[in-house]
Amino acid sequence: MRRECEISIQGSTEMQVPERFICDHTFSADGPLLICVGGLHGNEPAGVEASLRISQAIELGKITGLRGRIISILGNRSALRQKVRFISTDLNRLWIPQKVNKIKDALINGGVKTLEPEEKEQLELYQCLEDILAQEKDRELYFIDLHSTSSHGSPFIICADSPESKSFATMFPIPIVSGLGALVGTLLEHMTSLGATSFVCEGGQHDSNETIIALEQLLLSVMLKLRMINGGEDASAREVLRSLTNGVPRRLHITYRHAITEKDQFRMKPGYRNFTAVKQGEVLATDAQGDVSCPSDGLIFMPLYQARGEDGFFLVTPFDEAN
Ligand SMILES: [Zn+2]
Repeated sequence: MRRECEISIQGSTEMQVPERFICDHTFSADGPLLICVGGLHGNEPAGVEASLRISQAIELGKITGLRGRIISILGNRSALRQKVRFISTDLNRLWIPQKVNKIKDALINGGVKTLEPEEKEQLELYQCLEDILAQEKDRELYFIDLHSTSSHGSPFIICADSPESKSFATMFPIPIVSGLGALVGTLLEHMTSLGATSFVCEGGQHDSNETIIALEQLLLSVMLKLRMINGGEDASAREVLRSLTNGVPRRLHITYRHAITEKDQFRMKPGYRNFTAVKQGEVLATDAQGDVSCPSDGLIFMPLYQARGEDGFFLVTPFDEAN
């Protein structure tokens, strides 16, 4: 279908991006509706590329459709074009009712031109989602939000806070991290409130080829699990995911968040990957006050290796699935 993204991920200063709809394949009138979003953060092109690859495999007959409908949507088009996380505000923090009402009001009252860049993106996304859901009232709804991190390391899932989403997420051989409940206004939260069984997958480091592979294999696994495509045994997709998540516990909980602001001049020490074991007292970073020491033993999670962010790092610890 549209291949512009793949050929321009690296190199040029500005990326050509696909249209809002990356793909839309209806296999049958029955079966689930799977909505995927890639590039909700503009410096995270891997989810876009993974969706394009799945779409191309379907179009070339390499994987054949059985049931349902898959739609992949582009997140922050203008930020993707500039290869930045966002232009003026984080598009993944705008999905609270008050802010959704603001864009709806702008549409009704002719105020769209006055909206911030991400509010315009949000409005387009909102309209896409409303149109799709109006057409597809009877299908079971699944939503996967494809992201990546500034640090290297294993892919992981952040699951929506619903029993259906939790049991669905455990079907895939990827660690699930819980305890990020403080994040407000995510698209995940919005889609869950609309009845979707949902999770976020962080596929790995933003520009790593392994991240594209992880997200592509996850999408394949999801479609196989939902019996949307004809792949028989999904052993090979699961094997790839297992090798990328090698040695990381399956369930982890956040025990610490190191919040930062721009004034802190936070700089992470190089070399930390997601889920690396760290010790209490270990110097993990520096800031305006000097060394930043690790407050307790644990596994480091999402250490910040990009300019923008409000979280320097997190600590996670494994927990028993029975608890
Ligand atoms: Zn992201």
